[in-house]
Amino acid sequence: MRNENCIFCKIAAGEIPSATLYEDEDFRVFLDLGPANDGHALIIPKEHYANLLELPEELCGKAMVIAKKLAKRLKDFTGADGVNIVNNNGEAAGQSVFHFHVHVIPRWKNDGKFPLWIPGELTDEVRDKLVEEFKKNPLV
Ligand code: 5GP
Ligand code: ZN
Repeated sequence: MRNENCIFCKIAAGEIPSATLYEDEDFRVFLDLGPANDGHALIIPKEHYANLLELPEELCGKAMVIAKKLAKRLKDFTGADGVNIVNNNGEAAGQSVFHFHVHVIPRWKNDGKFPLWIPGELTDEVRDKLVEEFKKNPLV
């Protein structure tokens, strides 16, 4: 599956050059052109899926294993203090390229790069509604 208008499909296929750190039959890992920090890399499937919700489950598992290994290597190599694994799904969630990707971002103490969210408060009403819903309709 491929989307002719998708830049990440072209990168996945090697038609647009990328600073590739890893490649296998299902995934390519390459450096982000607008990095939050040195070592900021993206993991993409070679087939086109718009986001995590469309990604087949077996590829979800593989993507997370690559993210884990890459996080360790990047942290060790760059000397970062921590690593964010970020995945945006939908424009409202900050996604700008609509081909599923995982950001692996080395972080340094006080690098001030981004707050992922501004913490709010978990109300009793919201908590009870969600816990009840997931008890009634289990996730798996
Ligand atoms: P999103 O906002 O969709 O979660 O992330 C898209 C990411 O892709 C951004 O961090 C952006 O810098 C990166 N990006 C967009 N176009 C290209 C490109 O052509 N090459 C590379 N290497 N990164 C890209
Ligand atoms: Zn694509």
